[in-house]
Amino acid sequence: MSLTVTSLCGSWFSASSTRMSSLLLFTSFLLLDPIWALEFRYHDNSEIEQYLIQTSRSNPNITHLYSIGTSVRGQQLWVLALGVNPQRHVVGIPEFKYVANMHGNEVLGRELLLHLIDHLVQGYRNEEASALQLLRSTRIHILPSMNPDGFDDADTDCQYSQGRFNHNGVDLNRNFPDVFSDPQRQQQSEGQREAEVRAVMGWLRNETFVLSANLHGGALVASYAYDNSNQGSMQMGGASLTPDDDVFVHLSKEYSYSHASMHRGNICQGSRAFPDGITNGYHWYPLAGGMQDYNYVWAQCLEVTLELSCCKFPPADQLEALWSDNTDALLAYVRQVHLGVKGVVYDGSGVAVQNALVEVKGRKNVCPFRTNSHGEYYRLLLPGNYTFTVTYPGHEVLTETLSIPYGPDKYSAMTHHFRLRRTSAITTAYIQTCPTPGYSHAVNLEGGGATSRPSWIRHAVGIGLAVLGGWVIE
Ligand SMILES: [Zn+2]
Repeated sequence: MSLTVTSLCGSWFSASSTRMSSLLLFTSFLLLDPIWALEFRYHDNSEIEQYLIQTSRSNPNITHLYSIGTSVRGQQLWVLALGVNPQRHVVGIPEFKYVANMHGNEVLGRELLLHLIDHLVQGYRNEEASALQLLRSTRIHILPSMNPDGFDDADTDCQYSQGRFNHNGVDLNRNFPDVFSDPQRQQQSEGQREAEVRAVMGWLRNETFVLSANLHGGALVASYAYDNSNQGSMQMGGASLTPDDDVFVHLSKEYSYSHASMHRGNICQGSRAFPDGITNGYHWYPLAGGMQDYNYVWAQCLEVTLELSCCKFPPADQLEALWSDNTDALLAYVRQVHLGVKGVVYDGSGVAVQNALVEVKGRKNVCPFRTNSHGEYYRLLLPGNYTFTVTYPGHEVLTETLSIPYGPDKYSAMTHHFRLRRTSAITTAYIQTCPTPGYSHAVNLEGGGATSRPSWIRHAVGIGLAVLGGWVIE
């Protein structure tokens, strides 16, 4: 990758009047512009940083670079957001994310995500239909490395774990709050968690992510929630199933069948069989404190763990073929953010309201899905008929049945707004319980990252009801 910064300034071209000099200038533009020069090789942390900076400078209309925090050793955790409104959320546009290199020695995902950025940016510049549709309909956040310190320490061995942990020797995929863990572990405060984990937890509070994947290596399989279990009623055949199991299986198969070989199930040497190239995480091996369970339970974001290479550190000469194996799958998986239904919940005055509960009959989520600071909800569902109940203080509980089509082909989930009616009757149906995710301070359920209590809780307290079932923790 060239590290020379170049500008897209048009005056370079107008400065020359001869055909030859224009051609020379154009050629040097091609050579210098980083998005034309991304090579199939490993890039260290500073090269990735430079690549992201240059790409964002060259494409300010569709990219926005930001940091969610720093690693233990102080390296920035850079995220590049892509979309036609890259700087901020737009109502109706779902937020998607890819996270790679959480385990510092599982490195393929870093390079795949750089090439995905390159693919989308070039596709947009070239007015390719798929890139245009994806970037017009979706805001895609890419974190190429969640564990840059671990990467610096990583061994190039295929299986050995040197570099897996962060600088404090902690496995970041065991350090998140876990709804199934023992209370002592769960009550660890956010401030006591690792810097990289705190950064991701804050990120999830600032954006309402709808769909996510977390890229790992050492196997070839799409592994979905739950990773842990309460050993109770949710277990079935050794799996720990979420209420959205049908959606998780679909999402995982979308990746495995769009991938060149993952769907075959057990192509890694010594691998166990993974029918269709997917597995329930707990069924594979239980783990506590994982990121995908945290995303799903507390951030209402469906996340799948993608194991993308048999070798954790594949030889560099395989990178081009591995990108080719994954390109369609990475793009197809993003499109799945358009499954189901989305919309806004309005109160009796026609105002969009935050923290209205939007629940689907038959899907009892640990923490009920709720509207964000814009009053929006997003609900990934397979095509079919679903009965929704929408609950908000001072309003009648609204029940509606919706017939939901398949959205990804059209790059949009079905849009349906819920309009509530006021009632003077005291309702208690909105009193919900949601386990404490081990925060030491107020649980922030608001999408905008503010630290105040959710507005409907203030409202409920105002009308004299005790609404404390775990939602308000100081
Ligand atoms: Zn891993």
